[in-house]
Amino acid sequence: MALKPLIAANWKMNGNRELVSTVTEAVASLSAAVDVLVCPPATLLPVFKAQRNFALGGQDVSAAQAGAYTGQLSVALLKEASASYCLVGHSERRQYQFESDSLIAQKVAAAIAGGITPVLCIGETLAERQQEKTEQVLAKQLAAVYASQPELLSKSVIAYEPIWAIGTGESATPEQAQLTHAFIRAELSRYDAEAATQLRILYGGSVNAANSAALFAQPDINGALVGGASLKPDEFVQICLSAK
Ligand code: PEP
Repeated sequence: MALKPLIAANWKMNGNRELVSTVTEAVASLSAAVDVLVCPPATLLPVFKAQRNFALGGQDVSAAQAGAYTGQLSVALLKEASASYCLVGHSERRQYQFESDSLIAQKVAAAIAGGITPVLCIGETLAERQQEKTEQVLAKQLAAVYASQPELLSKSVIAYEPIWAIGTGESATPEQAQLTHAFIRAELSRYDAEAATQLRILYGGSVNAANSAALFAQPDINGALVGGASLKPDEFVQICLSAK
């Protein structure tokens, strides 16, 4: 893990003002050796103090800049609420909001054009893995975003999140994850070889304090996107510490 690690928390539809305080306090003890990102529900973004040692992100972003898009949040709105990152294409949005690869590509482009860093989430289902289609699925998800816009790669973060590992307590093994991360990097080098070497590829899927160090010991795993364990401030800090 030669690139500076990025540990991102995805609170999903969880958390409250109290969690904002306890996480801010817990993360304050961390050194600058690790970049930390917290993606709370958007309504909590303004609750975070300006004085903090981590970045904030949205959990989604609109592809549109402004206008008649009820319920959506533009890049400008996220930025005004102090977000400098946003998740894009999380599997829960692909599944429950039926987000297509082409919409996700537009969102990645909109985020970068507006000056925030997209964390593009990709991953295969259990059935796809069992049918040995993992590489095919990931290649398609990456191509949808970068084949026609390779210039976006140098301004992106990728999160590989096997869907079968999200929220299930069954993480990919470090070896499984490393093989897939190496594949993702090789695939991306077809779009921009230099950017692919500098790109942070996070692993997500049941990361916790017990399995994070072994995952971070892998050369192509440059951090994590953490769901459930990010709601436990002490455990989240342990995960961040294991990334140094
Ligand atoms: C996620 O939702 O991005 C995630 C990885 O969740 P969990 O850590 O709970 O599996």
